[in-house]
Amino acid sequence: MLVNIHTHYKSADSIEIVNYSDIFDFPSYYSFGIHPWDSETNGLKISEIENKAHDKFMLAIGEIGLDKVKGPAFEIQKSCFINQVLIAEKINRPVIIHCVKAWNEIAAIKKQLQPKQTWIFHGFSKAAILESVLQEGLMISIGAGIMNNTKLQEALLRIPTDRLFLETDDSHITILEVYKKVSTLKNLSLSELEQIIENNFKRIFRI
Ligand SMILES: [Zn+2]
Repeated sequence: MLVNIHTHYKSADSIEIVNYSDIFDFPSYYSFGIHPWDSETNGLKISEIENKAHDKFMLAIGEIGLDKVKGPAFEIQKSCFINQVLIAEKINRPVIIHCVKAWNEIAAIKKQLQPKQTWIFHGFSKAAILESVLQEGLMISIGAGIMNNTKLQEALLRIPTDRLFLETDDSHITILEVYKKVSTLKNLSLSELEQIIENNFKRIFRI
């Protein structure tokens, strides 16, 4: 079975974690959290996240993180992010990270808080920070960027398979297209890759 670790569009072609605000019907696995862009204006209370702790379909807190290009003042984003990281620790859920030009700050927060929950760097595309992200212990989720970003294609070869997830995010590419591209680049058969990602999914989400 294909696994789509982060998408904004519900489909039936894979096991998928749909970003909560984008789904209207359940059951579906989903992630729930306050996006950094919404960290100031979103009426969603932090307590709502905690209230979902009992919901077995809520697999992850996310996407949450820091964005230096878009969104409210960085300090506001930062406190919103930290609050949610602490909830993830409390209710035992992995975290789906949105990071735009803010890896140093996210790494610093991770060092400071020493979270036990797995962090998944979603939509990873910046080859230059790969080694640092791996060193901090994050899982890396690759999406549509892999189709054309040659630096990312090279970096993919340096990602251990047990640290890899795949996603479509808000692109209209299918998860199968991402799998096909990654399997070719990694020199794996589609079924080998499928098994690898499924194993990662079961291990991280204890499913
Ligand atoms: Zn997204």
